[in-house]
Amino acid sequence: MPNDTTPSIADALDKVRNRIALAAHAANRDPADITLVAVSKTKPVALVRDALDHGQRDFGENYLQDALAKIDALTEREPLWHFIGDIQSNKTRDIASNFSWAHAIDRFKIARRLSDQRPEGYAPLNLCIQVNIDGEASKSGIAPSDVAELADQIVELEHVKLRGLMTIPAPSTDEASQRKPFAALRELMQRLNDRGHDLDTLSMGMSADLEAAIAEGATHVRVGTDIFGARDA
Ligand SMILES: *Cc1c(COP(=O)(O)O)cnc(C)c1O
Repeated sequence: MPNDTTPSIADALDKVRNRIALAAHAANRDPADITLVAVSKTKPVALVRDALDHGQRDFGENYLQDALAKIDALTEREPLWHFIGDIQSNKTRDIASNFSWAHAIDRFKIARRLSDQRPEGYAPLNLCIQVNIDGEASKSGIAPSDVAELADQIVELEHVKLRGLMTIPAPSTDEASQRKPFAALRELMQRLNDRGHDLDTLSMGMSADLEAAIAEGATHVRVGTDIFGARDA
């Protein structure tokens, strides 16, 4: 039995959905245009099942072995799995066969392997390029000046679809500074589209900054802690 000191996944999801709706309305956006990716990394399959029971469909994972066990256990529920972590070459086959999205693409070699290894008959794997939008603050992702070249290469691949950009900015507490890197990612995607790309996805915003991300156009927010609770370090 849940007790009142441990909020249920259903309550936590309702709170996060409410935050998304409020932020969307404040930005004159339709909340339906924002996908909540529930980041279940390190969390047990039972909690993912609770979230599925409460209408959650999209889940984010970073650790492949941990993810594959949950994916196997939940196949008949048909969740949509997003791989949101860095990808090494030896992981591409399993990611290409088990996920719908990969959010943290930072080199062509990985995108090419994912395309080559996408199983016959599957829809293209949706990809986002991870951008190190605020320079030295984070070590993950590529420099904004390198994004156009990688995007031009990825769109030539047959079994992946380049959907947009992803970023994890340095943490900050006030909304004005949170918004700056998100605005920069939005502007970068706009420049790519002005050059002929057809990108529709900004994967940005987590538990602590989803409002700022939505204000700047996030289409996918990746929320872990505020749904499933704190993770062990
Ligand atoms: C863990 C993780 C998240 C979720 O972060 P929270 O602060 O727990 O909401 C989002 N995106 C990525 C890439 C992550 O690794």
